[in-house]
Amino acid sequence: MDSVKDLTRPAPRAGVLAIEAYVPGKSAAPAGVKLHKLSSNETPLGASPRAIAAFQAAANSLEFYPDGTASALREAIARRYGLDAARIVCGAGSDELLNLITHAYLGPSDEGLYSEHGFLVYKIAILAAGGTPVVAKEKNYTTDVDALLAKVSARTKLVFLANPNNPTGTYIPFEEVKRLHAGLPPHVLLVLDAAYAEYVRRNDYSAGIELVATSDNVVMTRTFSKIHGLANLRVGWAYMPANVADALNRIRGPFNMNGPAIAAGAAAIADQAHMDAAVAHNEHWRDWLSAEIGKLGLSVTPSVGNFILIHFPKEAGRTAREADAFLSARGLILRAVAGYGLPDALRMTVGSEEANRLVVQALRDFLK
Ligand SMILES: *Cc1c(COP(=O)(O)O)cnc(C)c1O
Repeated sequence: MDSVKDLTRPAPRAGVLAIEAYVPGKSAAPAGVKLHKLSSNETPLGASPRAIAAFQAAANSLEFYPDGTASALREAIARRYGLDAARIVCGAGSDELLNLITHAYLGPSDEGLYSEHGFLVYKIAILAAGGTPVVAKEKNYTTDVDALLAKVSARTKLVFLANPNNPTGTYIPFEEVKRLHAGLPPHVLLVLDAAYAEYVRRNDYSAGIELVATSDNVVMTRTFSKIHGLANLRVGWAYMPANVADALNRIRGPFNMNGPAIAAGAAAIADQAHMDAAVAHNEHWRDWLSAEIGKLGLSVTPSVGNFILIHFPKEAGRTAREADAFLSARGLILRAVAGYGLPDALRMTVGSEEANRLVVQALRDFLK
């Protein structure tokens, strides 16, 4: 460490410059080509008309500070899921909540744990808090509970589990989540990131509400960016023990949620028909895409989310990088996932019927 007198300009805290900034999904098509953005797991159905109406109505009171407790949104969420609104904290996307949790519970020399192909925001949040990211191997692109438990040390403060995971699309059954929790010391906080929970239709899956309700060290984060189609507004929420809510409410910005976001989120979560339509569209087209792309000879990791992971061969002319360039030239923007340790794969969001059919045709042409 340089002594202070050697510094010629302000220096960020330790760890900050070790961060590789998050790279969002691309969103540009070549000039004159129609763009199909399939790189950020946004919904092809758009936001609920009720959410859009609530957002527009909120435009009439932009001069007023929002409700700093976001109570209309917390109560709408509590009603929808039968929760205690006092134990819900909202954030500008679940990204903000993941960062707040990390800053509240992890500091220099502490470790934060997540799995091999886990969501990159965890690593960024841990480094930003001055902590050390620790990574556990996966099996078959799936979280391995034993590998996670084997990495728990005396310095572990946080364990992040994206279930289902992004970018792999895989999940672990609730029994496995409970086994992970049972293996953690009581002072370690388990963060269940359930950004895609609404899309999962499996009897052995749970987003984790029951575990939060019955434990002192589990938080579940959720988002309005995916199935609710409000990514542009930045709305997330988390359900947690009262003492964790108390800690986050002390460090969050006093007006971290804006009024239009609060209003649109509350309207969106009450529109069950819109969510049902999104699930039905997703199931149909995810299955269709997986089958059609499989028929082309590419392997697709079985997904329970609203996206699929497509694996490409390493041979010249057929690599993921070349496929990405080929598809992009047609305005079909998928997500390169080399940053997740998956250089031979692309992640594709389940899109509109038009986009899905165009991708399959483009992949067929690419592989010719
Ligand atoms: C998209 C996503 C989120 C949500 O991010 P927001 O900040 O709420 O938009 C969280 N976790 C995972 C794994 C995601 O893929």
